[in-house]
Amino acid sequence: MNVKEYLIDSFMNLTSDGIVIVDINGTVLEVNKKFEELHGWTREEVIGQILPMTPDDYKDDALRLYQSLINGEQVKDFEAIKLRKDGTTFIASVTVSPLKDRDGNVVGFVGLERDISEKKRVEEELFESEKQYRRLLKLNPEPIVLHKDGLILFVNDACCKLFGTSSDEFIGASIYDYFCPTDKAVIIERIEQIMQMDNYSDFVERRMRKKDGTLFDAEISSIYVHKNIGNPVMQSVIRDLTERKKSEEAMIRSEKLSLIGQLAAGIAHDIRNPLTSLKGFVHLLKAKNADYVDVMMEELEHINYVVNEFMTLAKPHLSYYLESNPRELVRSVIAFLQPHAHLYNVQIQMDMDQDIPAIYCIPDQIKQVLINILKNAIESMGNGGVIQLSVRNVLNQRLIICVEDQGVGISEDKLTQLGEPFFTTKTNGTGLGLMVCKRIIHGHNGDLTIQSKINHGTKVQIELPIKK
Ligand code: ADP
Ligand code: MG
Repeated sequence: MNVKEYLIDSFMNLTSDGIVIVDINGTVLEVNKKFEELHGWTREEVIGQILPMTPDDYKDDALRLYQSLINGEQVKDFEAIKLRKDGTTFIASVTVSPLKDRDGNVVGFVGLERDISEKKRVEEELFESEKQYRRLLKLNPEPIVLHKDGLILFVNDACCKLFGTSSDEFIGASIYDYFCPTDKAVIIERIEQIMQMDNYSDFVERRMRKKDGTLFDAEISSIYVHKNIGNPVMQSVIRDLTERKKSEEAMIRSEKLSLIGQLAAGIAHDIRNPLTSLKGFVHLLKAKNADYVDVMMEELEHINYVVNEFMTLAKPHLSYYLESNPRELVRSVIAFLQPHAHLYNVQIQMDMDQDIPAIYCIPDQIKQVLINILKNAIESMGNGGVIQLSVRNVLNQRLIICVEDQGVGISEDKLTQLGEPFFTTKTNGTGLGLMVCKRIIHGHNGDLTIQSKINHGTKVQIELPIKK
Protein backbone atom coordinates (compact mmCIF):
# COMPACT_ATOMS: atom_id res chain seq x y z
CA MET A 1 0.00 0.00 0.00
CA ASN A 2 1.41 3.41 -0.89
CA VAL A 3 0.96 6.40 1.37
CA LYS A 4 -2.10 7.66 -0.46
CA GLU A 5 -3.84 4.30 -0.38
CA TYR A 6 -2.96 3.96 3.26
CA LEU A 7 -4.52 7.35 4.09
CA ILE A 8 -7.69 6.53 2.20
CA ASP A 9 -7.90 3.17 3.93
CA SER A 10 -7.49 4.80 7.36
CA PHE A 11 -10.12 7.38 6.56
CA MET A 12 -12.55 4.71 5.41
CA ASN A 13 -12.09 2.53 8.47
CA LEU A 14 -11.55 4.94 11.32
CA THR A 15 -14.68 6.98 10.78
CA SER A 16 -17.66 6.12 12.94
CA ASP A 17 -20.04 6.26 9.94
CA GLY A 18 -20.81 3.37 7.64
CA ILE A 19 -19.53 4.14 4.12
CA VAL A 20 -20.78 2.54 0.92
CA ILE A 21 -19.63 3.43 -2.60
CA VAL A 22 -21.93 2.48 -5.47
CA ASP A 23 -21.98 3.07 -9.22
CA ILE A 24 -24.82 4.95 -10.87
CA ASN A 25 -26.98 1.82 -10.94
CA GLY A 26 -26.54 1.20 -7.25
CA THR A 27 -24.09 -1.67 -7.58
CA VAL A 28 -21.81 -1.78 -4.56
CA LEU A 29 -18.15 -1.07 -5.33
CA GLU A 30 -16.72 -0.69 -1.84
CA VAL A 31 -17.80 -0.62 1.84
CA ASN A 32 -15.89 0.11 5.04
CA LYS A 33 -15.63 -1.85 8.31
CA LYS A 34 -18.32 0.18 10.03
CA PHE A 35 -20.73 -0.67 7.20
CA GLU A 36 -19.98 -4.35 7.77
CA GLU A 37 -20.69 -3.87 11.47
CA LEU A 38 -23.93 -1.97 10.95
CA HIS A 39 -25.36 -4.41 8.41
CA GLY A 40 -23.81 -7.72 9.36
CA TRP A 41 -22.52 -8.48 5.87
CA THR A 42 -18.87 -8.93 4.98
CA ARG A 43 -17.37 -6.74 2.29
CA GLU A 44 -17.16 -9.72 -0.07
CA GLU A 45 -20.83 -10.54 0.40
CA VAL A 46 -22.08 -7.12 -0.74
CA ILE A 47 -19.68 -6.07 -3.48
CA GLY A 48 -21.44 -6.44 -6.81
CA GLN A 49 -24.93 -6.45 -5.22
CA ILE A 50 -27.45 -3.77 -6.12
CA LEU A 51 -28.45 -1.63 -3.13
CA PRO A 52 -28.44 -4.55 -0.64
CA MET A 53 -28.71 -2.10 2.28
CA THR A 54 -31.97 -0.60 1.02
CA PRO A 55 -35.26 -2.47 1.66
CA ASP A 56 -37.00 -3.49 -1.59
CA ASP A 57 -39.85 -1.02 -1.11
CA TYR A 58 -37.39 1.87 -1.07
CA LYS A 59 -35.08 0.87 -3.90
CA ASP A 60 -36.98 2.97 -6.45
CA ASP A 61 -36.78 5.99 -4.17
CA ALA A 62 -33.01 5.52 -3.90
CA LEU A 63 -32.59 5.34 -7.68
CA ARG A 64 -34.73 8.47 -8.08
CA LEU A 65 -32.51 10.20 -5.56
CA TYR A 66 -29.41 9.23 -7.60
CA GLN A 67 -31.07 10.66 -10.68
CA SER A 68 -31.70 14.00 -9.02
CA LEU A 69 -28.08 14.11 -7.86
CA ILE A 70 -26.95 13.43 -11.41
CA ASN A 71 -29.15 16.34 -12.46
CA GLY A 72 -27.15 18.53 -10.12
CA GLU A 73 -29.79 18.94 -7.41
CA GLN A 74 -28.66 19.35 -3.81
CA VAL A 75 -29.80 16.66 -1.38
CA LYS A 76 -29.70 17.29 2.33
CA ASP A 77 -29.17 14.73 5.12
CA PHE A 78 -32.23 12.58 5.60
CA GLU A 79 -33.40 9.72 7.74
CA ALA A 80 -33.90 6.35 6.07
CA ILE A 81 -34.68 2.76 7.00
CA LYS A 82 -31.71 0.43 6.39
CA LEU A 83 -31.62 -3.33 6.07
CA ARG A 84 -29.37 -5.79 7.92
CA LYS A 85 -28.26 -9.18 6.65
CA ASP A 86 -30.62 -10.90 9.11
CA GLY A 87 -33.61 -9.00 7.66
CA THR A 88 -34.00 -6.57 10.58
CA THR A 89 -33.92 -2.84 9.98
CA PHE A 90 -32.57 0.27 11.68
CA ILE A 91 -32.97 3.99 11.24
CA ALA A 92 -29.96 5.84 9.88
CA SER A 93 -29.14 9.41 9.15
CA VAL A 94 -27.89 9.32 5.56
CA THR A 95 -25.80 11.63 3.38
CA VAL A 96 -25.33 10.84 -0.31
CA SER A 97 -22.80 12.65 -2.49
CA PRO A 98 -22.05 12.12 -6.18
CA LEU A 99 -18.60 10.94 -7.40
CA LYS A 100 -17.41 12.49 -10.64
CA ASP A 101 -14.76 11.55 -13.22
CA ARG A 102 -12.19 14.00 -14.62
CA ASP A 103 -14.75 15.34 -17.12
CA GLY A 104 -17.32 16.04 -14.41
CA ASN A 105 -19.61 13.15 -15.24
CA VAL A 106 -21.25 11.43 -12.32
CA VAL A 107 -19.93 7.87 -12.13
CA GLY A 108 -21.13 6.78 -8.72
CA PHE A 109 -22.15 7.79 -5.23
CA VAL A 110 -20.80 7.73 -1.70
CA GLY A 111 -23.34 7.02 1.03
CA LEU A 112 -22.60 7.80 4.67
CA GLU A 113 -24.83 6.07 7.23
CA ARG A 114 -25.09 6.85 10.91
CA ASP A 115 -27.20 4.61 13.15
CA ILE A 116 -29.57 6.83 15.09
CA SER A 117 -31.90 4.15 16.52
CA GLU A 118 -30.51 4.76 20.01
CA LYS A 119 -30.95 8.51 19.75
CA LYS A 120 -34.50 7.97 18.48
CA ARG A 121 -35.27 5.64 21.34
CA VAL A 122 -34.04 8.15 23.93
CA GLU A 123 -36.05 10.91 22.27
CA GLU A 124 -39.15 8.78 22.31
CA GLU A 125 -38.61 7.85 25.93
CA LEU A 126 -38.21 11.51 26.80
CA PHE A 127 -41.38 12.33 24.92
CA GLU A 128 -43.21 9.54 26.74
CA SER A 129 -41.97 10.63 30.14
CA GLU A 130 -42.90 14.22 29.37
CA LYS A 131 -46.36 13.02 28.36
CA GLN A 132 -46.60 11.11 31.61
CA TYR A 133 -45.44 14.17 33.57
CA ARG A 134 -48.02 16.39 31.89
CA ARG A 135 -50.70 13.83 32.65
CA LEU A 136 -49.72 13.78 36.31
CA LEU A 137 -49.76 17.57 36.42
CA LYS A 138 -53.07 17.77 34.59
CA LEU A 139 -54.84 15.48 37.01
CA ASN A 140 -53.13 16.75 40.17
CA PRO A 141 -55.83 17.94 42.58
CA GLU A 142 -53.82 21.05 43.45
CA PRO A 143 -54.00 23.93 40.98
CA ILE A 144 -50.70 24.09 39.08
CA VAL A 145 -49.41 26.55 36.48
CA LEU A 146 -46.32 26.35 34.30
CA HIS A 147 -45.09 29.73 33.18
CA LYS A 148 -42.06 31.36 31.68
CA ASP A 149 -41.11 35.03 31.43
CA GLY A 150 -44.50 35.90 32.90
CA LEU A 151 -46.46 33.99 30.25
CA ILE A 152 -48.62 30.99 30.99
CA LEU A 153 -47.59 27.78 29.17
CA PHE A 154 -49.80 25.23 30.88
CA VAL A 155 -52.52 25.04 33.52
CA ASN A 156 -54.01 21.90 35.00
CA ASP A 157 -57.68 21.06 35.44
CA ALA A 158 -57.77 22.09 39.10
CA CYS A 159 -56.42 25.51 38.15
CA CYS A 160 -59.08 26.02 35.45
CA LYS A 161 -61.73 25.10 38.00
CA LEU A 162 -60.38 27.47 40.64
CA PHE A 163 -60.27 30.47 38.32
CA GLY A 164 -63.34 29.60 36.25
CA THR A 165 -61.27 29.89 33.07
CA SER A 166 -60.63 27.42 30.27
CA SER A 167 -57.15 26.15 29.54
CA ASP A 168 -57.22 27.89 26.13
CA GLU A 169 -57.90 31.25 27.74
CA PHE A 170 -55.01 30.76 30.12
CA ILE A 171 -52.33 29.72 27.67
CA GLY A 172 -50.32 32.65 26.41
CA ALA A 173 -51.92 35.03 28.93
CA SER A 174 -49.80 37.03 31.35
CA ILE A 175 -49.64 35.70 34.91
CA TYR A 176 -49.99 39.29 36.15
CA ASP A 177 -53.55 39.40 34.81
CA TYR A 178 -54.47 37.14 37.69
CA PHE A 179 -52.98 39.29 40.44
CA CYS A 180 -53.62 42.77 41.78
CA PRO A 181 -51.81 45.18 39.43
CA THR A 182 -50.04 46.77 42.40
CA ASP A 183 -48.37 43.43 43.23
CA LYS A 184 -46.54 43.13 39.91
CA ALA A 185 -43.22 44.58 41.09
CA VAL A 186 -43.08 42.34 44.18
CA ILE A 187 -43.92 39.27 42.11
CA ILE A 188 -41.22 40.00 39.54
CA GLU A 189 -38.71 40.33 42.35
CA ARG A 190 -39.85 37.10 43.92
CA ILE A 191 -39.63 35.17 40.65
CA GLU A 192 -36.04 36.32 40.31
CA GLN A 193 -35.28 35.00 43.78
CA ILE A 194 -36.94 31.68 43.04
CA MET A 195 -34.87 31.26 39.87
CA GLN A 196 -31.79 31.18 42.10
CA MET A 197 -33.20 28.37 44.23
CA ASP A 198 -33.33 24.64 43.60
CA ASN A 199 -36.39 23.88 45.67
CA TYR A 200 -40.00 24.83 46.13
CA SER A 201 -40.25 28.27 47.69
CA ASP A 202 -42.23 28.83 50.89
CA PHE A 203 -45.90 29.56 50.38
CA VAL A 204 -46.66 33.28 50.27
CA GLU A 205 -50.09 34.85 50.45
CA ARG A 206 -51.42 36.97 47.61
CA ARG A 207 -54.76 38.21 46.47
CA MET A 208 -55.67 36.71 43.13
CA ARG A 209 -58.38 37.43 40.60
CA LYS A 210 -60.84 34.98 39.08
CA LYS A 211 -62.28 35.21 35.59
CA ASP A 212 -65.42 36.95 36.84
CA GLY A 213 -63.26 39.56 38.59
CA THR A 214 -63.78 38.38 42.17
CA LEU A 215 -60.67 38.61 44.30
CA PHE A 216 -59.69 35.82 46.64
CA ASP A 217 -56.87 35.00 49.02
CA ALA A 218 -54.42 32.40 47.79
CA GLU A 219 -51.04 31.07 48.77
CA ILE A 220 -48.45 30.26 46.17
CA SER A 221 -45.27 28.23 46.09
CA SER A 222 -43.06 27.98 43.01
CA ILE A 223 -40.08 26.05 41.75
CA TYR A 224 -37.79 26.78 38.84
CA VAL A 225 -37.52 23.56 36.84
CA HIS A 226 -34.39 23.81 34.75
CA LYS A 227 -32.14 20.82 35.34
CA ASN A 228 -32.03 18.21 32.52
CA ILE A 229 -34.80 19.97 30.66
CA GLY A 230 -34.21 21.90 27.47
CA ASN A 231 -36.89 24.44 28.14
CA PRO A 232 -36.73 25.75 31.72
CA VAL A 233 -40.06 26.72 33.27
CA MET A 234 -41.51 27.99 36.50
CA GLN A 235 -43.95 25.63 38.16
CA SER A 236 -46.33 27.22 40.67
CA VAL A 237 -48.82 25.61 43.01
CA ILE A 238 -51.77 27.78 44.02
CA ARG A 239 -53.94 27.09 47.05
CA ASP A 240 -57.26 28.74 47.65
CA LEU A 241 -57.32 30.15 51.17
CA THR A 242 -60.94 31.32 51.19
CA GLU A 243 -62.29 28.50 53.33
CA ARG A 244 -59.34 28.47 55.68
CA LYS A 245 -59.59 32.25 56.17
CA LYS A 246 -63.28 31.98 56.89
CA SER A 247 -62.88 29.34 59.57
CA GLU A 248 -59.93 31.20 61.06
CA GLU A 249 -62.00 34.37 61.30
CA ALA A 250 -64.86 32.43 62.86
CA MET A 251 -62.47 31.02 65.44
CA ILE A 252 -61.06 34.45 66.30
CA ARG A 253 -64.60 35.80 66.65
CA SER A 254 -65.83 33.00 68.86
CA GLU A 255 -62.78 33.23 71.09
CA LYS A 256 -63.48 36.93 71.45
CA LEU A 257 -67.05 36.28 72.49
CA SER A 258 -66.06 33.73 75.08
CA LEU A 259 -63.46 36.16 76.39
CA ILE A 260 -66.12 38.81 76.77
CA GLY A 261 -68.42 36.37 78.47
CA GLN A 262 -65.73 35.49 80.98
CA LEU A 263 -65.11 39.16 81.72
CA ALA A 264 -68.79 39.89 82.19
CA ALA A 265 -68.73 39.08 85.92
CA GLY A 266 -66.14 41.74 86.65
CA ILE A 267 -67.85 44.23 84.46
CA ALA A 268 -71.26 43.68 86.03
CA HIS A 269 -69.62 44.19 89.38
CA ASP A 270 -68.06 47.41 88.12
CA ILE A 271 -71.42 48.69 86.96
CA ARG A 272 -73.21 47.69 90.15
CA ASN A 273 -70.92 49.74 92.41
CA PRO A 274 -71.55 53.11 90.80
CA LEU A 275 -75.23 52.23 90.47
CA THR A 276 -75.45 51.63 94.20
CA SER A 277 -73.89 54.97 94.99
CA LEU A 278 -76.10 56.69 92.41
CA LYS A 279 -79.16 55.21 94.02
CA GLY A 280 -78.01 56.48 97.42
CA PHE A 281 -77.43 59.96 96.11
CA VAL A 282 -80.80 60.07 94.41
CA HIS A 283 -82.39 59.28 97.78
CA LEU A 284 -80.47 62.11 99.38
CA LEU A 285 -81.32 64.41 96.50
CA LYS A 286 -84.95 63.94 97.34
CA ALA A 287 -84.33 65.20 100.86
CA LYS A 288 -81.87 68.03 100.20
CA ASN A 289 -81.21 70.15 97.13
CA ALA A 290 -77.81 68.84 96.57
CA ASP A 291 -74.30 69.14 95.16
CA TYR A 292 -74.01 65.37 94.76
CA VAL A 293 -74.83 65.96 91.14
CA ASP A 294 -71.16 66.21 90.11
CA VAL A 295 -70.34 62.87 91.70
CA MET A 296 -73.41 61.34 90.09
CA MET A 297 -72.32 62.64 86.70
CA GLU A 298 -68.86 61.09 87.16
CA GLU A 299 -70.34 57.75 88.07
CA LEU A 300 -72.68 57.90 85.12
CA GLU A 301 -69.71 58.66 82.85
CA HIS A 302 -67.92 55.63 84.16
CA ILE A 303 -70.87 53.32 83.60
CA ASN A 304 -71.20 54.72 80.15
CA TYR A 305 -67.54 54.08 79.39
CA VAL A 306 -67.56 50.50 80.59
CA VAL A 307 -70.75 49.66 78.78
CA ASN A 308 -69.52 51.30 75.59
CA GLU A 309 -66.22 49.44 75.59
CA PHE A 310 -68.07 46.22 76.23
CA MET A 311 -70.46 46.82 73.38
CA THR A 312 -67.77 47.82 70.86
CA LEU A 313 -65.76 44.78 71.70
CA ALA A 314 -68.71 42.44 71.46
CA LYS A 315 -69.86 43.81 68.12
CA PRO A 316 -68.50 41.90 65.13
CA HIS A 317 -66.12 44.31 63.41
CA LEU A 318 -64.88 44.28 59.90
CA SER A 319 -61.27 43.30 59.90
CA TYR A 320 -59.68 46.28 58.19
CA TYR A 321 -56.07 47.30 58.51
CA LEU A 322 -55.89 50.83 59.84
CA GLU A 323 -53.18 53.15 61.04
CA SER A 324 -53.65 53.06 64.80
CA ASN A 325 -52.05 54.54 67.84
CA PRO A 326 -50.69 51.78 70.15
CA ARG A 327 -50.90 54.16 73.11
CA GLU A 328 -54.66 54.43 72.70
CA LEU A 329 -55.07 50.70 72.17
CA VAL A 330 -53.17 49.82 75.34
CA ARG A 331 -54.93 52.49 77.43
CA SER A 332 -58.39 51.40 76.41
CA VAL A 333 -57.60 47.74 77.06
CA ILE A 334 -56.27 48.51 80.54
CA ALA A 335 -59.34 50.58 81.38
CA PHE A 336 -61.53 47.79 80.14
CA LEU A 337 -59.73 45.18 82.24
CA GLN A 338 -59.69 47.29 85.42
CA PRO A 339 -62.81 45.54 86.84
CA HIS A 340 -61.29 42.09 86.24
CA ALA A 341 -58.04 43.22 87.84
CA HIS A 342 -59.93 44.55 90.89
CA LEU A 343 -61.64 41.21 91.24
CA TYR A 344 -58.21 39.54 91.50
CA ASN A 345 -56.64 42.31 93.53
CA VAL A 346 -54.15 42.99 90.75
CA GLN A 347 -52.52 46.26 89.79
CA ILE A 348 -51.42 47.03 86.26
CA GLN A 349 -48.39 49.31 85.94
CA MET A 350 -47.64 50.83 82.61
CA ASP A 351 -44.35 52.09 81.22
CA MET A 352 -44.48 53.51 77.74
CA ASP A 353 -41.73 55.11 75.64
CA GLN A 354 -42.31 58.78 74.86
CA ASP A 355 -42.20 58.37 71.13
CA ILE A 356 -44.57 55.61 70.07
CA PRO A 357 -45.37 55.81 66.37
CA ALA A 358 -48.56 54.56 64.75
CA ILE A 359 -48.71 50.96 63.59
CA TYR A 360 -50.63 49.46 60.72
CA CYS A 361 -52.98 46.88 62.19
CA ILE A 362 -56.50 45.58 62.70
CA PRO A 363 -57.11 47.49 65.96
CA ASP A 364 -59.86 45.20 67.15
CA GLN A 365 -57.63 42.16 66.82
CA ILE A 366 -54.69 43.77 68.61
CA LYS A 367 -57.04 44.71 71.45
CA GLN A 368 -58.21 41.11 71.59
CA VAL A 369 -54.60 39.92 71.90
CA LEU A 370 -53.84 42.39 74.68
CA ILE A 371 -57.01 41.49 76.58
CA ASN A 372 -56.19 37.80 76.31
CA ILE A 373 -52.65 38.19 77.56
CA LEU A 374 -53.49 40.62 80.36
CA LYS A 375 -56.40 38.43 81.42
CA ASN A 376 -54.09 35.40 81.60
CA ALA A 377 -51.62 37.44 83.63
CA ILE A 378 -54.33 38.62 86.03
CA GLU A 379 -55.67 35.11 86.47
CA SER A 380 -52.19 33.70 87.16
CA MET A 381 -52.03 35.68 90.41
CA GLY A 382 -54.55 34.14 92.80
CA ASN A 383 -53.35 36.28 95.69
CA GLY A 384 -53.04 39.50 93.78
CA GLY A 385 -49.90 41.26 92.62
CA VAL A 386 -48.50 43.60 90.04
CA ILE A 387 -48.39 43.35 86.26
CA GLN A 388 -45.73 45.32 84.43
CA LEU A 389 -46.74 46.39 80.97
CA SER A 390 -44.13 48.10 78.82
CA VAL A 391 -44.36 49.48 75.31
CA ARG A 392 -41.07 50.14 73.53
CA ASN A 393 -40.12 51.61 70.21
CA VAL A 394 -37.01 49.85 68.90
CA LEU A 395 -35.26 52.11 66.39
CA ASN A 396 -38.54 53.00 64.72
CA GLN A 397 -38.49 49.49 63.26
CA ARG A 398 -40.33 47.36 65.77
CA LEU A 399 -42.82 47.90 68.52
CA ILE A 400 -42.37 45.67 71.53
CA ILE A 401 -45.18 45.21 74.01
CA CYS A 402 -44.19 43.23 77.06
CA VAL A 403 -46.53 41.90 79.76
CA GLU A 404 -44.85 40.52 82.87
CA ASP A 405 -46.73 39.01 85.82
CA GLN A 406 -45.73 37.58 89.20
CA GLY A 407 -48.03 34.61 88.92
CA VAL A 408 -47.74 30.84 89.18
CA GLY A 409 -45.70 30.56 85.99
CA ILE A 410 -45.78 27.74 83.47
CA SER A 411 -43.69 24.57 83.69
CA GLU A 412 -41.33 23.81 80.82
CA ASP A 413 -43.30 20.86 79.47
CA LYS A 414 -46.50 22.90 79.46
CA LEU A 415 -44.72 25.80 77.80
CA THR A 416 -44.29 23.71 74.67
CA GLN A 417 -48.02 22.97 74.64
CA LEU A 418 -49.02 26.63 74.78
CA GLY A 419 -50.55 27.86 71.59
CA GLU A 420 -51.98 24.43 70.85
CA PRO A 421 -55.77 24.54 70.81
CA PHE A 422 -57.74 23.53 73.92
CA PHE A 423 -54.79 23.48 76.31
CA THR A 424 -56.15 25.06 79.47
CA THR A 425 -55.71 24.69 83.21
CA LYS A 426 -58.79 26.76 84.05
CA THR A 427 -62.27 25.45 84.77
CA ASN A 428 -63.92 28.02 82.51
CA GLY A 429 -60.99 28.39 80.11
CA THR A 430 -61.23 27.72 76.38
CA GLY A 431 -57.54 27.08 75.81
CA LEU A 432 -57.86 29.01 72.57
CA GLY A 433 -56.63 32.36 73.81
CA LEU A 434 -52.93 32.02 73.12
CA MET A 435 -53.45 30.19 69.85
CA VAL A 436 -55.66 33.00 68.59
CA CYS A 437 -53.13 35.56 69.84
CA LYS A 438 -50.34 33.87 67.89
CA ARG A 439 -52.45 33.68 64.74
CA ILE A 440 -53.35 37.34 64.97
CA ILE A 441 -49.79 38.49 65.65
CA HIS A 442 -48.34 36.31 62.85
CA GLY A 443 -51.06 37.67 60.57
CA HIS A 444 -49.61 41.10 61.35
CA ASN A 445 -46.11 39.90 60.45
CA GLY A 446 -45.15 40.01 64.08
CA ASP A 447 -44.02 37.54 66.68
CA LEU A 448 -45.23 36.42 70.09
CA THR A 449 -42.89 34.76 72.57
CA ILE A 450 -43.49 33.47 76.09
CA GLN A 451 -40.91 33.01 78.84
CA SER A 452 -41.87 31.65 82.21
CA LYS A 453 -40.43 30.51 85.50
CA ILE A 454 -42.58 28.42 87.75
CA ASN A 455 -43.73 30.34 90.89
CA HIS A 456 -41.94 33.46 89.64
CA GLY A 457 -44.03 34.67 86.80
CA THR A 458 -44.48 34.83 83.06
CA LYS A 459 -43.31 37.28 80.45
CA VAL A 460 -45.17 37.56 77.17
CA GLN A 461 -43.55 39.62 74.46
CA ILE A 462 -45.31 40.86 71.36
CA GLU A 463 -43.28 42.22 68.53
CA LEU A 464 -44.93 44.17 65.73
CA PRO A 465 -43.40 45.87 62.71
CA ILE A 466 -43.63 49.65 62.52
CA LYS A 467 -44.56 50.79 59.03
CA LYS A 468 -43.14 53.99 57.70
P1 ADP B 1 -57.30 29.93 78.67
O1 ADP B 1 -56.91 31.26 79.26
O2 ADP B 1 -58.68 29.90 78.17
O3 ADP B 1 -56.97 28.77 79.56
P2 ADP B 1 -55.08 30.41 76.96
O4 ADP B 1 -54.70 29.89 75.63
O5 ADP B 1 -55.18 31.89 77.12
O6 ADP B 1 -56.43 29.72 77.36
O7 ADP B 1 -54.02 29.88 77.98
C1 ADP B 1 -53.77 28.51 78.07
C2 ADP B 1 -53.13 28.11 79.38
O8 ADP B 1 -51.82 28.65 79.48
C3 ADP B 1 -53.83 28.63 80.59
O9 ADP B 1 -54.89 27.79 80.97
C4 ADP B 1 -52.73 28.65 81.62
O10 ADP B 1 -52.53 27.38 82.20
C5 ADP B 1 -51.49 28.95 80.81
N1 ADP B 1 -51.12 30.38 80.90
C6 ADP B 1 -51.30 31.32 79.98
N2 ADP B 1 -50.81 32.50 80.35
C7 ADP B 1 -50.29 32.32 81.60
C8 ADP B 1 -49.65 33.17 82.57
N3 ADP B 1 -49.44 34.48 82.33
N4 ADP B 1 -49.24 32.60 83.72
C9 ADP B 1 -49.43 31.29 83.99
N5 ADP B 1 -50.06 30.45 83.11
C10 ADP B 1 -50.48 30.94 81.95
MG1 MG C 1 -56.64 33.09 78.26
